[in-house]
Amino acid sequence: CSSDLVLLKLYTTGSYYEEGAQVLGIKQMLYDASTGVWSATVDGDLNKIYYTYVIKTAKGTQETQDIYSKAVGVNSKRSEVVDLAQTNPEGWENDGHILVDKPNDAIIWEIHVRDFSSSDTSGVSKEHRGKFLAFTERGTVIPFTNFPTCVDYLKQLGITHIQINPAFDFGSVNEITGVDYNWGYDPVNYNVPEGSYATDPYHGEVRIREFKEMVKSLHKEGIGVIMDVVYNHVYSAVDSPFEKTVPGYYFRMQDGKFLNSSGCGNVTASDKTMFRKFMIDSLRYWTEEYHIDGFRFDLMACHDIETMNLIREELDKIDTRLLIYGEPWTANDGENGISGEDCSNKSNAKKLSTRIGMFNDDMRHGIKGGSDDDSKGFIQGSTHSAYNVIAGMMGASSVTFGNWANEPSQCITYASAHDNLSLWDKILKSNWCTDYDTTDKLYVTQNKLAAVLILASLGIPFWMAGEEFARTKYGDHNSYKSPDSINSINWTRSIRYKELVDYYRGLIKIRKSFSPLRDNTTKAVNDGYIVYNGQSISLTMKNDTEGEWKMISVIINNSEQPCTPQIKSQYELPKGWYVVANGEEASDEAICKFDPEKPMPPRTALIIVDAESYDAIHDTDYFKDSEDGADH
Ligand code: CA
Repeated sequence: CSSDLVLLKLYTTGSYYEEGAQVLGIKQMLYDASTGVWSATVDGDLNKIYYTYVIKTAKGTQETQDIYSKAVGVNSKRSEVVDLAQTNPEGWENDGHILVDKPNDAIIWEIHVRDFSSSDTSGVSKEHRGKFLAFTERGTVIPFTNFPTCVDYLKQLGITHIQINPAFDFGSVNEITGVDYNWGYDPVNYNVPEGSYATDPYHGEVRIREFKEMVKSLHKEGIGVIMDVVYNHVYSAVDSPFEKTVPGYYFRMQDGKFLNSSGCGNVTASDKTMFRKFMIDSLRYWTEEYHIDGFRFDLMACHDIETMNLIREELDKIDTRLLIYGEPWTANDGENGISGEDCSNKSNAKKLSTRIGMFNDDMRHGIKGGSDDDSKGFIQGSTHSAYNVIAGMMGASSVTFGNWANEPSQCITYASAHDNLSLWDKILKSNWCTDYDTTDKLYVTQNKLAAVLILASLGIPFWMAGEEFARTKYGDHNSYKSPDSINSINWTRSIRYKELVDYYRGLIKIRKSFSPLRDNTTKAVNDGYIVYNGQSISLTMKNDTEGEWKMISVIINNSEQPCTPQIKSQYELPKGWYVVANGEEASDEAICKFDPEKPMPPRTALIIVDAESYDAIHDTDYFKDSEDGADH
């Protein structure tokens, strides 16, 4: 026992400056040495009563909210007793998880709650802009147009999951004024939704209900919700309930100082029993109480392998299809406080469950070059990037080309996330262009090549919201506290770059039509054949699934010269192919016959499918009698 005295303090409000604020009572808590639990019993209906603990430790006497808070008042200072059953929106009992049979069926769109709707281009009602409730609106359009926004837009796009940037209670935004902006990677109360995203930050039950409304609304459209969880550090260690309750326990320390592998001033100790238990309990809570469908772990390498595997086991008890993946790095390996062999990074991927995924930064780098500099990657014509791209297309699971992953289920395939330049800004920077609204074909084309590499590769496709309409942050590579004018989604770009949106949508359809692209095992890797001839990459895959195209070839010419595609397979190649994606468009319907003699234009991708099985499935023979079918 690290405390000498623990008092329970009850309040009418979540802060001292609210109307009617008063202390309702103070009660001494009793320590049970056999369990290590402090407890007190208070009679009566305590629903919506606020409380804190006053704890005397070696660090002095401090007042703190509850580590295990499920509700808090404004700006996180006091915990609240809430009858959770009363926070359930109508029909909540019929809301179920959106789960995919295998992780590779997921197509993930990363969005910040506020960015989604903070701009008036979202068409969302003023009182819901930037809030959880924006996700409950329907029929939203870009003002004065028929172009859908927000959830209506997502339904048309075809993604399966959204990943929301931190939406638990964080410290950097004042919930009263709500004017500051932050991504929210500064947790205060892990088990409580963030107050600035609620229509009322004062009454803790409101944000709980509105968060659930958001989840329910997305689930209704078949869209799953993945939470970005930042258990690796807290906003301020000394001010956190963890440190005030048991000083020095919940964080990794050295010589009395907080270690800093998170780069944010402290790192939590997942390897210690009670923080490990806290993480597991918290994840179970979000899954069961809020119907969350998956978790993305920030700086996952700060956490030890044993903890991550235990988390997988515990969530498997709820449903094995819940998604788990994370960033396989720390911000500062030298201050992680656990052995390199124990941390959940890429080189240890094989010690982790095959259903714990990791962002493939090698592929990201291969696709576009360095995250913030003007270097070029494969899409901008670099040849030396080809091998990172090839390994990534194989889901980082190919013995021949590189396999840090056990299986493609461990590989998150991506070119952009909230960190660093947006893909569009990176493409522009590497081409020395500063006109963020340009529709120059060269840049749109390079973006399209990235889309093909993300969606027509093995692994789990992921991208930052708006990548599909050339989202710009005007060159801001670290917009974590930049204003809405930088961060907001400008929905009008979905009109300006409609061709690009349509291209992503078509690729999503192709991905959903061809099972091997979504294979979570190495079968697809072993069945695939990839060739690079110095100019173009082609990945050819066969398919045994009944009722689907029997073969596909994904070909990318990243050079400035036309080239004749090389298509190889260890299996018999089809007699004829149909093109379903070319440099202009992508679709699950045949665009034209494929002519193997016709050179591919510079900087284009082609996706072709076996014509015979296509005709059998679609009951067509579009190009059979057409002399000029190839030019259709
Ligand atoms: Ca907050």
